[in-house]
Amino acid sequence: LSFNCGVEETWIESTSTSTEEKMLREFSQTIGRLGSLKTPTGGWKTRFAPSPTGYLHLGHIASAIFVWGIARTLSATILLRIEDHDQQRSRKIFEKAILEDLHWLGFQADDGIRDAISPSPYRQSDCKDRYRKELAHLWEKQEIYYCHCTRKRLKQLQKRPGQNEIRYDSHCREQNLIESQGLTIRWRVPQRPVFFFDMGQGQLRQTPHQQCGDFSLRDANGFWTYQFSTTADDSHQNINLIIRGEDLLPSSGRQILLRKSLGCKEQADPIFYHHPLLRDSHGIKLSKTLQSTAIREFRQKGMAPEELLGIVVNLIGLSANRQKISLTEIVHQYFSEFSI
Ligand code: GLU
Ligand code: ZN
Repeated sequence: LSFNCGVEETWIESTSTSTEEKMLREFSQTIGRLGSLKTPTGGWKTRFAPSPTGYLHLGHIASAIFVWGIARTLSATILLRIEDHDQQRSRKIFEKAILEDLHWLGFQADDGIRDAISPSPYRQSDCKDRYRKELAHLWEKQEIYYCHCTRKRLKQLQKRPGQNEIRYDSHCREQNLIESQGLTIRWRVPQRPVFFFDMGQGQLRQTPHQQCGDFSLRDANGFWTYQFSTTADDSHQNINLIIRGEDLLPSSGRQILLRKSLGCKEQADPIFYHHPLLRDSHGIKLSKTLQSTAIREFRQKGMAPEELLGIVVNLIGLSANRQKISLTEIVHQYFSEFSI
């Protein structure tokens, strides 16, 4: 099977690699586990939460396949949320395009944002008042503080062996800086470790205090950070099932801790599935060009949604071929069928 629509790339058919095997093993474990999960009282609620900083691409489709596949199998509610907390990079045209493309592909959500125009509690830029209240609450509990560290200073903090992110060294924690423009707001991260359940990997442990230290909730420009807005939303919207790319795995522990502090109504911690990222058939991460080719570009070249879905189920290793397939068929064949 070859596929070419003007994107300079050769896709060679599968030879299985250990990465792929690991992925498939984890995936079948996940699907196997779906049947034995105890449904929470109010049912499962998950979300798909793209950031409108660009057009929808193949990676988004992969993520959406996992969200819809697992959610439909568990009869979970799917909420569609627009994560435009990054006001410098987010664009309305991208939001509009994302909603259109999802619709075209057949990914229909049960709740959440409906159009790119009306104000919505499921669009982060419309949630500023709620965020401010949540922040005031943390301030009253003395859990946050102002930080005046410069980018330069933060850059000089060294990554520790085995860690791939910089840990803030609590430099401003006890300085009692008062509010003024250009200061970052940080959360006093509790020292304790956190345990959580990932459907692919099982029981996991993270210690955010050691990973990242006191992370920021609002940056020096006054913008809400990803960690804060996403956690505040997941908490407020009572999301109890979080399905997203494995690149976000390091964020899960810290988000659980922050969520508890924000006073999520849902007592139990959410459970997770961190899905593998798109790989080509050699288990190598897809090239930047291919990774970032917009769905609209494929669309304009005359491809059908089922053709694109067929390519993605192959790239995520669920299918050995790239035959056309609909979302309903994907849910059936690769998810529901296997959950016992
Ligand atoms: N907005 C994030 C993204 O587009 C997803 C965040 C999440 O699922 O926690 O990658
Ligand atoms: Zn500081």
